[in-house]
Amino acid sequence: METEPELKLTDEQWRARLTPEQYEVLRRQATERPFTGSYVHVKEDGIYRCAGCGAELFSSDTKFDSGSGWPSFWEPAVAEAVELLEDRSHGMIRTEVRCRRCGGHLGHVFEDGPRPTGLRYCINSCALALESSGPEAEG
Ligand code: FE
Repeated sequence: METEPELKLTDEQWRARLTPEQYEVLRRQATERPFTGSYVHVKEDGIYRCAGCGAELFSSDTKFDSGSGWPSFWEPAVAEAVELLEDRSHGMIRTEVRCRRCGGHLGHVFEDGPRPTGLRYCINSCALALESSGPEAEG
């Protein structure tokens, strides 16, 4: 069941706030092409926030190299920060991952991830904004 997002903007407001690519992914459920996103190979420490609303979604501590071409995490930083919905589009049954705060589409979750959860949150880079906590962010 889809919950009412806390942050509700009009389509026009979302278009003004997001890049065209972010708009297509977050608001129209598009998927960026594999290996094109900016966070695919990033190993920097930090928190990945929602590019739409800034909610804290994933930690670099749970990021792993899935080989899929999209940034992958084995669990969200805060379980309640994401919402899971059945997605029957494109002739498949998948579990969609959305940001609970703004309802933005983030990606999908699959059950072929590593331990300890066995989950793979396959997330579009452009739906995320990394807040780095690495040494290069200091000073
Ligand atoms: Fe959000």
